[in-house]
Amino acid sequence: MCIFCKIINGEIPSSKVYEDDKVLAILDISQATYGHTLVLPKKHYDNLLTIDDDIYQDTMLVAKKLAKAINQATSSEGVNILNNCNEAAGQTVMHFHVHIIPRKKNDDVKIEFTEHKYDLNEVKEKIIKAL
Ligand code: 5GP
Ligand code: ZN
Repeated sequence: MCIFCKIINGEIPSSKVYEDDKVLAILDISQATYGHTLVLPKKHYDNLLTIDDDIYQDTMLVAKKLAKAINQATSSEGVNILNNCNEAAGQTVMHFHVHIIPRKKNDDVKIEFTEHKYDLNEVKEKIIKAL
């Protein structure tokens, strides 16, 4: 059983901020910023690529509601909603979850992109074909 399933089952303690019959939200044990929260479905899905559409919607609606509350509660100026999907993208716990990271100007969070020059038409066509 994965670590988040153990938290959902109450086998491992957590700081719960929200719970309904399908979704749980807990503080991340490693706080990137004050109030960093994880929102997860109670049913186990490995990640975004395999999660059921209805459960995904339920989870994201809770994330939206919580983003507003967390922003207010932590007097933040913005928020990142982040999902890491698969190891290559930084996923370390293979139970779908969304990070809510409240942000302030000049905080020490670094989300950086390096720019690459690709043929946009080529990649666009590949994506459209895969839909
Ligand atoms: P990922 O890297 O998979 O997107 O994020 C996993 C997150 O789960 C990490 O930010 C990590 O700090 C958090 N985490 C790992 N184990 C536990 C735990 O036992 N309890 C809580 N609350 N968070 C955890
Ligand atoms: Zn799980």
